[in-house]
Amino acid sequence: MSLNYTCPRCGTPLGYEGLCWKCKCEQERNAALAWTPEQVAEKQENLVQNIRRLSDFKDPEHADFWQLLSYRDAITPEIQRSALAAEVFWPCEIYYHAPADVRDGLIAALLKTEDSHEAGNLMSCLAFQGDDRALETLLELERNPRPWRKGLYVDPSSYAQIGGWTFDREGQKIQLNFDTCYPMVKGISGEVSPVRIGRPREDTCPHCGGRMVDMLVLDGRDERLRFLGLDGILTAACCPSCVGFLKGPAFNRFTLDGGVEVFPSELFDGSERADCYVRPEDYKTLTENPFVLGKAPVPLFYGCASEDVNTVGGFGNWVQDAEYTTCPHCGKPMKYLAQIQWDTVFDCAEGTLYIELCPDCQIVSMQHQQT
Ligand SMILES: [Zn+2]
Ligand SMILES: [Zn+2]
Ligand SMILES: [Zn+2]
Repeated sequence: MSLNYTCPRCGTPLGYEGLCWKCKCEQERNAALAWTPEQVAEKQENLVQNIRRLSDFKDPEHADFWQLLSYRDAITPEIQRSALAAEVFWPCEIYYHAPADVRDGLIAALLKTEDSHEAGNLMSCLAFQGDDRALETLLELERNPRPWRKGLYVDPSSYAQIGGWTFDREGQKIQLNFDTCYPMVKGISGEVSPVRIGRPREDTCPHCGGRMVDMLVLDGRDERLRFLGLDGILTAACCPSCVGFLKGPAFNRFTLDGGVEVFPSELFDGSERADCYVRPEDYKTLTENPFVLGKAPVPLFYGCASEDVNTVGGFGNWVQDAEYTTCPHCGKPMKYLAQIQWDTVFDCAEGTLYIELCPDCQIVSMQHQQT
């Protein structure tokens, strides 16, 4: 493809005329953030009337839904009721914190179905509804599996994870994500930020010999980050070249004074050595990226409507299914902490780095997913 054009906003060379995809996402997001209350109400009403078009991927309903949810936190009980009435069980995020009558409708449908696929969808919907009755229902189905369980890969407690929580054998709820979300935004040169993406390290990767990088450094003592319950610094370090080629996630332990102990890792193909794909100019782009922590919190799904947003807290925009890592030290599921979209900090890398945390053990995990 010959790059005869440039993006009029950011100057990226393009093979077509118009905005690059990242600038297009930003433009759409800014438009949604600027919708007037009347425009929001109009889009909500259209969704109530045409909810089936949402599950058929039809626009404007599909785009409106994700923008209302992610940027405006504006999915109403009326939208949830119309989805239930039309038996629209996808995307399951529709039912996030739905009222009791909707929850009871979802439970009734789940207890009635004999179809594995539908049971899986309904459990995902209940996971996003997420209250005590939703938990009781999934717990009961875990203890007394229905015949449809044979058609699914995982238990109801794993479906609960989709909604950011799970439960243990005793039925105790375990929260797997944080109830606050902050975006990373482009700062001005030299701006001080309690969160930094991509800080260079001196040590090198045992597999490829490239420089390790602190992919996320975060100071929990900043007022905005109090929700994390960290009285100091969290550091998540990995090799940006190898993290996508490891057998499982990369791990490190951190100390609140900024220390890091990187855990040994293995390459997924069993080999000892890997090529380093990160060029010196890529390290420069990564470690000189402009991102700083946003000034104000945003809706929990803010990072879920596009692939150009880095967030701390809330929900991740999982490429595949949400995958909460088991803490290698205590064996409990880790909590989802942050997502970094590679191509916001590299010129030509794809996919997402998801960072999780075990607050008890002060261990972080980093895993890579891409389409
Ligand atoms: Zn652009
Ligand atoms: Zn490496
Ligand atoms: Zn742990």
